[in-house]
Amino acid sequence: MLPGLEAVLRTGVLHGNGEVGQRVERWMERTYGFRHVLLTTSGTHALELAMMLLDAKSGDEAILPSFTFVSTANAVLRAGLVPVFAEIDEETLNISPQDVAKRVTPKTRVIIPVHYGGVACDMDALGSIADEHKLAIVEDAAHAIGASYKGRMLGGIGAMGCLSFHDTKNVTCGEGGAFVTNDDRLAARAETIREKGTNRAQFLRGEVDKYTWVDIGSSFVISEILAALLEAQFAVIEEITKRRKTIYEFYLTNLRPLEQRGLLRLPVIPPYAQTNYHLFHILLPTEGIRNALMVHLRNAGIGAAFHYIPLHSSPFGKQFARGDLPVTDKVSRCLLRLPLYPDLTEAESSYIVEQIAEFFSKISRE
Ligand SMILES: *Cc1c(COP(=O)(O)O)cnc(C)c1O
Repeated sequence: MLPGLEAVLRTGVLHGNGEVGQRVERWMERTYGFRHVLLTTSGTHALELAMMLLDAKSGDEAILPSFTFVSTANAVLRAGLVPVFAEIDEETLNISPQDVAKRVTPKTRVIIPVHYGGVACDMDALGSIADEHKLAIVEDAAHAIGASYKGRMLGGIGAMGCLSFHDTKNVTCGEGGAFVTNDDRLAARAETIREKGTNRAQFLRGEVDKYTWVDIGSSFVISEILAALLEAQFAVIEEITKRRKTIYEFYLTNLRPLEQRGLLRLPVIPPYAQTNYHLFHILLPTEGIRNALMVHLRNAGIGAAFHYIPLHSSPFGKQFARGDLPVTDKVSRCLLRLPLYPDLTEAESSYIVEQIAEFFSKISRE
């Protein structure tokens, strides 16, 4: 068993905001330059906490991409805000600042950029829109642990940021997340909301002599058991990222000839972004080719997958749609993610590239 986990079990103190969780929070603050980190039970809960902290009026609007996971939009709705779906940029697949600017109304309160695949959104462009209209930026940095924008770590650039440690993410404890802010006032209130609306955190620091109900809240504190798993993951984050980088760059180099022949498009990382290699996707010319390649790879024993169904066309999300989002629709239909995880061997990644090449020579013969 992991020594850190065994130590937690020995103490018998399994609930949250204990020694291990706090040690991970302080480590993240030092390592990433975040002023305040609060571990949460999930990335979804970090987003819900952030939206609660906006203290929005019912009917206020949040601008977010349609090309994201459902949690971004659920958090908006649960805080009484209306989701306004924006278009993505064709190259980065991140929210398009030009499109965001067009969707700002007097009711807009917040912009929620999602750093897709760990590649930073254009934060300067979004920042100037936010400044001009006095809007908050809450980063959905669920994909983005350890990734940065012009040297600043993602999650720590907007007023608030949300990370995920779900087991599909680079660093995981099964289910977990983190709320990040550089604002002392927001951090103090976040601490209360995370502890069921009580001042228990102040009590633990000896600042008050009993704890009681002081604000609205929920139960967003991660257990010490999961914090111990997370601590073990952070101990090896550099190796994890290095392995992912090797595989990512292998795909880029070896699929480049297919891109040069116009058969597919490779991911684009703008000069301002340092990725954490969370995802590797390719874009096929049509949905038909994407689906045929996915079947070809599956028959070869390779699990390649599409990604988000755009929220504005989902059964629940379409009630919030305001017109078409053609880039989002096209990307969603033509995108395929290739296997990318630290244990993927060199032989396996070579085999994947060969099978993709084999697919294109097969269809050109047909
Ligand atoms: C994973 C993810 C979330 C939610 O994180 P959980 O920890 O699974 O709750 C939110 N937004 C995006 C973009 C994600 O990929």
